[in-house]
Amino acid sequence: MKEREKMIQEAMEKLFLERPQAILAMIYLEWNIDKLDNWYEDVDQNRYKAGIELSPKTKEYLKSKGVVENADYCATCYETKADTFFSLSCGHQFCGDCWTEYLQEKLKNPLGCLSVKCQHSECTCIVPEEVYRKFITDEIQLEKLDKAIFKNFINRNEDYKQCPNPKCHYYAKSNMHSAREINCMCGTTYCFKCSKDTHRPCSCEMFEKWVKNNESKKSKKVKDVIICYVIKELEDVDMLFVMYVKQIGLNIVRTILIVINILKR
Ligand SMILES: [Zn+2]
Ligand SMILES: [Zn+2]
Ligand SMILES: [Zn+2]
Ligand SMILES: [Zn+2]
Repeated sequence: MKEREKMIQEAMEKLFLERPQAILAMIYLEWNIDKLDNWYEDVDQNRYKAGIELSPKTKEYLKSKGVVENADYCATCYETKADTFFSLSCGHQFCGDCWTEYLQEKLKNPLGCLSVKCQHSECTCIVPEEVYRKFITDEIQLEKLDKAIFKNFINRNEDYKQCPNPKCHYYAKSNMHSAREINCMCGTTYCFKCSKDTHRPCSCEMFEKWVKNNESKKSKKVKDVIICYVIKELEDVDMLFVMYVKQIGLNIVRTILIVINILKR
């Protein structure tokens, strides 16, 4: 997570944002530091899209719906102003108890909890992670938050790929983003690009097309890969031919491969 921290610092410096807003910006930019330069192409739009603040259009819309900045009562429980009242940049105030309850519920979904919006259902401001820390003190809940932060970083950053084995916590890093084969420490082998079974040397698209064509059949892995290899060798080969090759068996496919290689020489 050192890398994440470095990116946050860079975003704060380059975009002149406070830490919570810089994190929202980086989530929006998919943790791609190269995209920081695009920020200035339209700062306002980017701020709205990252959920840092409301666009004038959304403000107008909320106003027409009667959703306005409220100073003296919680917009969820209508409790009158207390010193726990807090709002995001939109100005929609809620009491501390309502924030705690709201955010605890949101933490149940670790993949979505960092894109949670203000308690007003139609408000587009996003809750920064600091707000979770402000209203949640329970250790177990905070652990959930840390896990969510980590998951958000890995899932949105295309340099990383989480191992597809649901029981495994390892991930792979590559800045080539290609369909390279990853051999995870847990024993799972997968494609970095599409996370599916390894299918070298076929492209992900080719592999997917092939899987779709064969969904009903009980073919798995090794055979699949060899068949894919045949497709690759023959380039525009007809799918029907491939299925036919498959039916006649693996050994014959191997023989065909050898013949193809001899012919190519
Ligand atoms: Zn309340
Ligand atoms: Zn709001
Ligand atoms: Zn693994
Ligand atoms: Zn792939």
